[in-house]
Amino acid sequence: MILTAATTDLFAFDEARLDELATSHPGPFFAYDLAAARERFDRLRAALPARVRLAYAVKSNPGLPLLEAFAGRGAWFDCASAGEVSAALAAGGTGAGMVFAGPAKTERDLQAALFAGARVQVDGIEDIARLHALHTGETPLAVNVRVNPAGGVSEVASIIGGVGPSAFGVDEEVLEAFVTEAARFERVEIRGLQVFSASNELDAGRLLANHRTALRIGRRLQELLGRELDLVDLGGGLGIRYALTEPNLDVRAVGAGLGRILGENDWFTGELLLEPGRWLSGPTGVYAARVVRTKVSRGERFVMLEGGINHLLRPLLTGQSFPTLAVRPGEGVVDGERATTTLAGPLCTSLDRVGTGDLPVDLRPGDVVMFGQTGAYAYTQAMSHFLSHALPEQHWVC
Ligand SMILES: *Cc1c(COP(=O)(O)O)cnc(C)c1O
Repeated sequence: MILTAATTDLFAFDEARLDELATSHPGPFFAYDLAAARERFDRLRAALPARVRLAYAVKSNPGLPLLEAFAGRGAWFDCASAGEVSAALAAGGTGAGMVFAGPAKTERDLQAALFAGARVQVDGIEDIARLHALHTGETPLAVNVRVNPAGGVSEVASIIGGVGPSAFGVDEEVLEAFVTEAARFERVEIRGLQVFSASNELDAGRLLANHRTALRIGRRLQELLGRELDLVDLGGGLGIRYALTEPNLDVRAVGAGLGRILGENDWFTGELLLEPGRWLSGPTGVYAARVVRTKVSRGERFVMLEGGINHLLRPLLTGQSFPTLAVRPGEGVVDGERATTTLAGPLCTSLDRVGTGDLPVDLRPGDVVMFGQTGAYAYTQAMSHFLSHALPEQHWVC
């Protein structure tokens, strides 16, 4: 695990604000900048052609104020459980602007999606059979089919899975047989496609190559169905940098590329859908945990924090930490000589490590370690219940 010693560049708040947050909140907390969320949504929207819709992936951060901020700007929502559907509706989202995904949808999930009026991303014939049984409308229920591409996809770190055996979707090789089988269920009609195989992509060219693959599959699907597709869903995957050494994803290049892809695919008259989670919510959040004690064990420096993998699990899951800096309440960012340090949490397991990297030697109890880019895949992804510590607070800054 590598911690990046960062300036406030990878943080949603400036030094004065971080200091204020550290001073006013004694326990571990997440703080989110809603103005940054609104700005990011508007910036991405402005970079995309009009035929591309934006659905916020609720799983990246289902916090209600964030959902409300996006709903207020006309966002669609990508939901994957009955709970996420409720949250999106409570925030002002609508079924007409909702897609519903998941590799193991129960009847309860499907009922929630149907009740809301969401477009379901079908992952296999079971979804179609269940929807056929549940759907009571006069006209056939329009669904998307999720396809697992046979090639032409790259993913740098395995998060969604790239190309290969997958729990998600219908393998491209068996798409024709799937379409034939699905036609037996006349109350369900495949009208769209979803392809999403790579997450946290920082290179616009690679992202667009994956999108081209999706349109190639879409063309074949439309031919197999003999019916026009109205929606091709390209999934999420827009990356953010977790270190200053990484590039920013060029979203204007993504927008221009999608415009070119639409131009190259004149067989397709429907809309494209992007479902970013991380890109929209990640940079809005900061996690903060106080130093409880420090120690040197057999030559290795440890700093023990009040929160660990019960609040931030991503480092353990992906091997990569969040950008980190330390604040001394009332004094600002702690600087000075640095040494390799392991940040450990309060849990009674050696798994509880949130990073190793160069941190100030002067760190002491009461200092607050801040983790940037923690607006996505942090609060709800952690193993909050393990060892029964209190949940971190969440603060929404307008
Ligand atoms: C997780 C997920 C997303 C969001 O992915 P990001 O990499 O956070 O943009 C979008 N769509 C689906 C179906 C997902 O499972």
